[in-house]
Amino acid sequence: MSAGNLFDTALARIREGLDNHRMAQSYLLVGPLRSHGIPMARQVLQSLYCVNTPQACGTCANCKKVADRTHPDVFWMEPQMKSRIISIDHVRELIADLMKTSYAGGWKVAVIVGADRLGTQGKAEAGNAILKVLEEPPEKTLFLMLTDSPDNVLSTIISRCQRITLSSQRIDREAVWFKSLEQLLILPTETGAILNGLIRSGRIQSLLEERRTQVEEEESELIKASELDREERESLVAARVEIRVREERMEMLRVMEAWYRDLLVVHLGIETDLLFAGHVDRIRGLAQGMTFRQAMDNIEAIENMQRQFTRNIKEDVVFTMGFARLSP
Ligand SMILES: [Zn+2]
Repeated sequence: MSAGNLFDTALARIREGLDNHRMAQSYLLVGPLRSHGIPMARQVLQSLYCVNTPQACGTCANCKKVADRTHPDVFWMEPQMKSRIISIDHVRELIADLMKTSYAGGWKVAVIVGADRLGTQGKAEAGNAILKVLEEPPEKTLFLMLTDSPDNVLSTIISRCQRITLSSQRIDREAVWFKSLEQLLILPTETGAILNGLIRSGRIQSLLEERRTQVEEEESELIKASELDREERESLVAARVEIRVREERMEMLRVMEAWYRDLLVVHLGIETDLLFAGHVDRIRGLAQGMTFRQAMDNIEAIENMQRQFTRNIKEDVVFTMGFARLSP
């Protein structure tokens, strides 16, 4: 299913819920934040507030306010510190805002970017405060909780939300780093697992470092006109950069997984739907030289890397060990 179709289906389900107040008022939108979660939230909000409803026009004053995040009845919440935790103070502020009468007399919406950032089991002051509101929400209040790592969302919160999955397998071939990563995967490897691990790990880390610099510039530019003081600005930029770089790192792992999946299926004699169809000759050559066990082990190695990153294991360790295990 394309991202567009997914959006339409999800949007229809949320609208249906809003038309019938007894249905869920809290949704957990699962998928990459920047490419799926945030655009989806924006689409829901615009269709809620657009003056040209039911189709969100994207150009009326309300649609623009939603896009600029200046709509008075929409409350965005995201981690403010580099620790990427949503604080209890911030949640209390949000709740106070939600208890007030809505500015325009309609729906109030809380958008929580990073629902997995509300704390962990046993240490979830912020999460528990949110949970209380979810259990007894003020009238006409909608919660959109976004996450790219649903396994880390408190189970009590998950049970209160209707879950909508916005694709996890989509590969963004337009990503600025795509070609570089493709080259890294396609080029012949050195002999020796350790050497390979070190070289390829070094290359992907410098790619990420490059991205970090670019993302930092973009985010600083975006926030330039805000009223925050210097310290608050730096803190917010740092938090956003951290989130985006981590997101891109996960996306890179998805691309790597797709590459090794291509190798596996070609090894099995299937050549349809290859992501790297442009390199089919290279893939055939590599696939012939490997065993089924190796092909499977590559996929497992990448899944393992993804898990390690969610456990905050150091980047160079994960990449070096991971690439050393991959063959070719
Ligand atoms: Zn509009």
